[in-house]
Amino acid sequence: MAKKSWMEKPAELGGGGGRRVVVIGGGVAGSLIAKSLQFNADVTLIDQKEYFDIPWASLRSMVEPSFAERSVINHRDYLTNGRLVVSRAINITNSEVLTAEGRLVAYDYLVIATGHDDPLPKFRNERLAEYQEDNEKIKAARSIVVVGGGPTGVELAAEIAVDFPEKKVTLVHDGPRLLEFIGPKASNKTLDWLKTKNVDVKLQQSIEMDRSSDGSNAYITSSHEKIEADCHFLCTGKPLGSAWLKETILKDSMDNFGRLKVDDNLRIKGHKNIMAIGDITDIKGVKQGYFAQKHALIAAKNIKIMMDGEKETKMAIYKPHSIKVIVSLGRQDAVAQFPFTTLIGLVPGMIKSKDLFVGKTRKKMGLDPHIVHY
Ligand SMILES: Cc1cc2nc3c(=O)[nH]c(=O)nc-3n(C[C@H](O)[C@H](O)[C@H](O)COP(=O)(O)OP(=O)(O)OC[C@H]3O[C@@H](n4cnc5c(N)ncnc54)[C@H](O)[C@@H]3O)c2cc1C
Repeated sequence: MAKKSWMEKPAELGGGGGRRVVVIGGGVAGSLIAKSLQFNADVTLIDQKEYFDIPWASLRSMVEPSFAERSVINHRDYLTNGRLVVSRAINITNSEVLTAEGRLVAYDYLVIATGHDDPLPKFRNERLAEYQEDNEKIKAARSIVVVGGGPTGVELAAEIAVDFPEKKVTLVHDGPRLLEFIGPKASNKTLDWLKTKNVDVKLQQSIEMDRSSDGSNAYITSSHEKIEADCHFLCTGKPLGSAWLKETILKDSMDNFGRLKVDDNLRIKGHKNIMAIGDITDIKGVKQGYFAQKHALIAAKNIKIMMDGEKETKMAIYKPHSIKVIVSLGRQDAVAQFPFTTLIGLVPGMIKSKDLFVGKTRKKMGLDPHIVHY
């Protein structure tokens, strides 16, 4: 580990007898647990960027960049009583986290919430500019290829098809059906919906990203089909944010997929003071932000119990929830899979598609759901 110790420390932070809780990853789970514990402990949030970008709002922000004003939230807005370190975590020991800038951040309790590794810019204004650039790219194109038929690709194709019906949208997916993470009923309904919006869906085909050198706007698929398009958006899955843990004290706590093995209390097996929450965990079932938020609240409760020296038997147990997935399809419609039914159209759309849970998420973070002051 590096030599430099991190001494930067504002006056008195939090409570919990000054116990230091370090959270790595400022996404859905990490930002919520940092916010929840900031008045109970001395909390430090380490994230590679200075903001929390609500993932389920990102595709709307590409067709309507002003939407990102509410959905890209500075960590400082909700973390009013904790420290923020804007850097990547690159190593951990039993008592410290090392960041890419060589800072050592000491902890009594550590929470790993590095979900998915997305190379987003460091600063909020850069992220807003990216949405603006994507929007200009969409507006300038007559034809667009979206690569990847998971939730990101489907939501983006739908956003473009609804807001820009005059554009030719092609969705290319290398699997046998769209939205493979949920059931075939939802896939089929989504495919039919996209067809009604004139989206050309090509299944079981991948795409060669190097365009032909003849100056044409052609993309060639693995089935040698030629798609004429002015631009493309890559919406293939992001890798788990756990590669950096492979040489650390947690290297034996990962499964074959790189997920952290946790017990019922969300502690990493074999490490009493290290917890993992969100998509990075090996908890069975579909990975959802809704579940990641539940993990954050359970883990916060358990850290409080540990800090108070209460019996381990008092700790909360995380019980996996039944599946409840809503994929938005533009501004009004959505496809939803609930435990006993699969729905498409305005009804599930009413739950998610207008505001994409942005107001609700902001409220959970203790912020005004409507207004942003910058
Ligand atoms: C298009 C789309 C729509 C979705 N819609 C929904 C929905 O409607 N409902 C729902 O419940 N879920 C939805 N999800 C899923 C949801 O977004 C994820 O389950 C959720 O983001 C997981 O949260 P997390 O905190 O585990 O990880 P993430 O949100 O991925 O956060 C990980 C954080 O860790 C940071 N990080 C990574 N590595 C490091 C490092 N080494 N050092 C420092 N920081 C690091 C990243 O910058 C990031 O901030 C959707 C996802 C997508 C992509």
